[in-house]
Amino acid sequence: MMEVCLDLSHEAPCYSPIDELKKLVFGGIVDCHGHAVTENTSTQAQYDKRGKKDLELDDIWVEIGKVRKEALATLVRRLNYSITRRRAMGICAWQTYVDVGPDIDLDALNVCIEAKRLWRRYGFILKIAVYPTLALKNTAMDALLREACRRQEVDSIGFLPSRERQRGVVKDPAVFAEMERAFEIAAEFGKGVDMQVDQKNHPEEKETFYLANIAARYRDMGYKKPICATHCLSMSAWNDDQLISYTLTMMAESNVSMIVCPRATLDNLQIREVLAPTHNSIAPWTLALKAKVNVAVGIDNVRDLYMPWCDGDIWKDVSVLVHSARYHGSIEKIADMLTINGKKALGL
Ligand SMILES: [Zn+2]
Repeated sequence: MMEVCLDLSHEAPCYSPIDELKKLVFGGIVDCHGHAVTENTSTQAQYDKRGKKDLELDDIWVEIGKVRKEALATLVRRLNYSITRRRAMGICAWQTYVDVGPDIDLDALNVCIEAKRLWRRYGFILKIAVYPTLALKNTAMDALLREACRRQEVDSIGFLPSRERQRGVVKDPAVFAEMERAFEIAAEFGKGVDMQVDQKNHPEEKETFYLANIAARYRDMGYKKPICATHCLSMSAWNDDQLISYTLTMMAESNVSMIVCPRATLDNLQIREVLAPTHNSIAPWTLALKAKVNVAVGIDNVRDLYMPWCDGDIWKDVSVLVHSARYHGSIEKIADMLTINGKKALGL
């Protein structure tokens, strides 16, 4: 008769690639995208409001403006919590967008700069991407962003170009004009550029293509700072395969990193009325790797108005990432995405 005993070992009794991966990368993981100012600010009232009427991304932007101002009061405590939690998961560096705008001035930036200095002493790197809350065609916003960029601790300009388009218009020239303005300021102050592009899951959204074009032009002019294309998920909905490979080649040649935030992009609605190839709501990251694009990973929204269900566990993101592509390839390749590719993307 077989003896039965309680086995308390924590080793999985089967092959677990994610456990192998954890052993390889723990302590050296780079989280390339987040929003520290509003991370861990979700409330039941917000949740109930969204439950009654789901909001379009455009509407959420208005709501997040209200949250942002109130969030300042708890930012120090939440930021320390966010970083402590990341360290416990083996993350050593985090790039966060930090909102600056007429509504909150540089208050959040000042807190993040202090945190950056403090945590640097304990070996944790906080990369700051200043995030204008209004369009740069607004002269007050332009002036404030320039003031923020004078701070040595600011690493990049973080940007959401699609915020400027008219509702229902996927290709609005205002988006590209804003992208150009952001690059001009970044080049003037010697900062990197990180843009959240192609996040509507729409085949006509081509922001990654435009970003790659601008990047190529700036590289030709001698601009050497990091350029990141974050999200890029509409690229998976594009009908033209040649345009996908052309864009990825241009990204590789111009050293534009692709930042994939797996769970955050799953949050997109399926646009039933628009025809597109079968695709997941995530960037075509395996194609990007094949094209020699530097692909890295970010967690993005954590327990905020956008994603109250997201607990910020990077291993759940990794799980979604690999499953989205039915990945059975080299574990080292995923380890690289989480570590050295992230470092390269952030210029570390
Ligand atoms: Zn984001």
